[in-house]
Amino acid sequence: MSAPRPPRPPVGLCDSCRHQRLVPNSRGSVFSLCERSRTEPEFPRYPRIPVLECRGFEPADEPHAEPRR
Ligand code: SF4
Repeated sequence: MSAPRPPRPPVGLCDSCRHQRLVPNSRGSVFSLCERSRTEPEFPRYPRIPVLECRGFEPADEPHAEPRR
């Protein structure tokens, strides 16, 4: 049986944005990546959290789930 995961810190708007991708690392942390950063340099790849306002926000169809490990 594995140890419970530590809670993920609140990311804010990104958690309900269609441009967010959750990226797990090997230490069990999960980072919130902004896909808009790929084509629009004004958006940071890993926004400083919590994101409270963002002009690039677009609502996701479904809330994001934790990535599988
Ligand atoms: S567009 Fe804004 S709200 Fe959406 S994932 Fe990027 S930083 Fe977060």
